[in-house]
Amino acid sequence: MIKQSICKICRRAGEKLFLKGERCFSPKCSMVRKPYPPGQKRKRRKGPPSEYAKELREKQKLKNWYNLEERQFKNYVKRLLTKKGKMEDAPLLLIKNLEFRLDNIVFRMGFTLSRRKARNLVSHSFFLVNGKAINIPSCQLKKGDIISVKPQKLKKNIIKEFKQLIKKHTTPDWLKLNKDKLEAEIIAVPTLEQVAPPVDILSIFEFYSR
Ligand code: SF4
Repeated sequence: MIKQSICKICRRAGEKLFLKGERCFSPKCSMVRKPYPPGQKRKRRKGPPSEYAKELREKQKLKNWYNLEERQFKNYVKRLLTKKGKMEDAPLLLIKNLEFRLDNIVFRMGFTLSRRKARNLVSHSFFLVNGKAINIPSCQLKKGDIISVKPQKLKKNIIKEFKQLIKKHTTPDWLKLNKDKLEAEIIAVPTLEQVAPPVDILSIFEFYSR
């Protein structure tokens, strides 16, 4: 979970990572007001960054994009590095595993504007997976799983917010969302093109192979 000043993560990465929800789409976004790294007062870096610095930056971007702590993120990458198989498949497998976390699926369903908030909702036991209550944000889902709101939570005020948000939300093609029932089914494995992570994924594997 991200605990530090969240906007500094985007400023350090040099691009908007949409970590704060509504504010990210407003002129209050720090990348609009201060589009330079924190502490640099608009000064430019001298010379190009090293390979290590580039790989570190890509790793930080994806880790923060999915709102993960270093230990959790490293485990996802290391598991694939030690797995037998073609390294060319590793980027897609990494993205698939990260996209199929329960907190990410709730975010993709459009109930929240940030993965951080989706994670809180999962921890507060708002959701069922195939009819069973699950409050573990990292729970790994699979194709065919059905995610719904716990019936006991349907009377909460936040449900009105979910309904407002999903009206404007475009659900990815690999999720089938029933906006009336507030329920979704994972109908396919997303492709890298569909997810379009804002990083060079192979350099993340390079980073952890050092
Ligand atoms: Fe990043 Fe959102 Fe903060 Fe903008 S408002 S810097 S996109 S977290």
